[in-house]
Amino acid sequence: MKNIVEVKNLSIDFNVRNGTFRAVDNINFDIQNNKTLALVGESGSGKSVTAMSIMQLLPMPQASYSENSSIKFENKEIINASKQDLLSLRGNIISMVFQEPMTALNPVLTVGSQITETVMRHQNISLKSAKKRALDMLELVKVPEPMRRANQYPHQLSGGMRHRLMIAIALACDPQILIADEPTTALDVTIQAEILSLLNSLKKKTDCSIIFITHDMAVVSQ
Ligand code: ADP
Ligand code: MG
Repeated sequence: MKNIVEVKNLSIDFNVRNGTFRAVDNINFDIQNNKTLALVGESGSGKSVTAMSIMQLLPMPQASYSENSSIKFENKEIINASKQDLLSLRGNIISMVFQEPMTALNPVLTVGSQITETVMRHQNISLKSAKKRALDMLELVKVPEPMRRANQYPHQLSGGMRHRLMIAIALACDPQILIADEPTTALDVTIQAEILSLLNSLKKKTDCSIIFITHDMAVVSQ
């Protein structure tokens, strides 16, 4: 199995008022093609900081990497990569879904335009193709009546559907890696199970790898 990401000796410090705080201490892991890696740990153990480092979205210079930290995407170092490399990495290659959809979604944009915006920002395609892509994505994540839903706003969707929308946006540019940061923590158990099985089937359909972040061992086993 090919490793798509290799994280070696990753340590991350934050500058705080009275010195530095080590949020991630020398972790090592690989992500294989089309596999799911679960990143598990109690609250505050550094899971989200690790995810943000893979996206290269940590607040700099408050955050810093230890000298021997390495994060390689397809054998290319991404710590301190150029702005241009990072822009194509985020969204096109690595994409993320968060725990709380309402903070990630834009309340004044329709469901359909949230997806078309993302696609058009990252890919050179026409509005017409982007709209088609939006409907296809809503269908892929099993939002019922995609045509009707596309014209609605996030607050008009149920919690489970908002999660599906967030996943649709994250997958709209066909990323190779999807980072799901506690994506089901706020959901009730039935909807949680639906989202988990959706992610699993999407992994097969889209050929992506998933980093699944959670503190819940029951979720890990699923
Ligand atoms: P979790 O495993 O719950 O996702 P986080 O990765 O969010 O944990 O946080 C790990 C630790 O890093 C926590 O103690 C958190 O307070 C600290 N931390 C996160 N972001 C910052 C920041 N910008 N400045 C200082 N400390 C931070
Ligand atoms: Mg977190």
